[in-house]
Amino acid sequence: MMPKLICQSCTMPIDNEADAGTEKGGSKSTEYCKYCYQDGALVNPEMTLPQMEELITTQMKKMNLPESIIQNSLSMLPRLKRWQKEKV
Ligand SMILES: [Zn+2]
Repeated sequence: MMPKLICQSCTMPIDNEADAGTEKGGSKSTEYCKYCYQDGALVNPEMTLPQMEELITTQMKKMNLPESIIQNSLSMLPRLKRWQKEKV
């Protein structure tokens, strides 16, 4: 089962509407998850790419995900819509 959508901020798969962020007015975002995007705005707009890498690593380790999955997500991060303007 391959997720069609991943969050364009944190790489989390958005498998169902409950995981999607919300736009102003309550409709569902098609780009961001509920942890990153609520009520039409990013939850942590000041967050930098290195901070997001750290957060993802911490979260995934908590979930006991294998290192290869973590690395895969980290390597996807800079290509996501949110981070393409970032200079690393
Ligand atoms: Zn997200």
